[in-house]
Amino acid sequence: TPVIGVLALQGDVREHLIALAEADALARPVRRPEELAEVDALVIPGGESTTMSKLALAFGMMAPLRERVAAGMPVYGSCAGMIMLADKILDGRDDQETVGGIDMTVRRNAFGRQNESFESAIAFKGIEGEGPAGEAVHGVFIRAPWVEAVGAGVEVLAELSAADGPESRIVAVRQGNLLATSFHPELTGDHRVHEYFVRMVEAAAR
Ligand code: GLN
Repeated sequence: TPVIGVLALQGDVREHLIALAEADALARPVRRPEELAEVDALVIPGGESTTMSKLALAFGMMAPLRERVAAGMPVYGSCAGMIMLADKILDGRDDQETVGGIDMTVRRNAFGRQNESFESAIAFKGIEGEGPAGEAVHGVFIRAPWVEAVGAGVEVLAELSAADGPESRIVAVRQGNLLATSFHPELTGDHRVHEYFVRMVEAAAR
């Protein structure tokens, strides 16, 4: 059983711990480099990416996070976590740093004002079968980022269509062992994205 940490500097840590446990992983909060060294993989939760970035620097976590990502540790970032995994961000704060690792440009708070928060059914490549709301993954978007550009090595796993959401945009990607979604599957009863990540972690361990 893989041990998966949840970066516990800020954000919806508890919800990810619960979703991971329900996806049959051993989940634990990670705040310090010593704790990071003990996990097989990591989830970076939703929250506020500028605050998370500041705290990661203050807690001496930014460099160890970059080292583990470079060494191939699987990481899943949701929402603010997606921003943390982006090599490039738009509309970030001037001093905002990211862990990086995914060759993509992510725009913060991208979905417009009247759509600060919305929900949508998402067709997710690699996720089949039925969830609590049917075949589609239930996507909860809260002041969500979107992926504005991806490099050649990045696989697009989900796109919002203009018919289903405020705009047609990339909302889930994968590059190697790194996974990111604009939305928050941890806030729904549908744990198939966490199960998908647990399968990624198991495959990386083999
Ligand atoms: N808007 C937040 C940010 O820029 C992300 C929102 C979220 O994680 N729900 O960090």
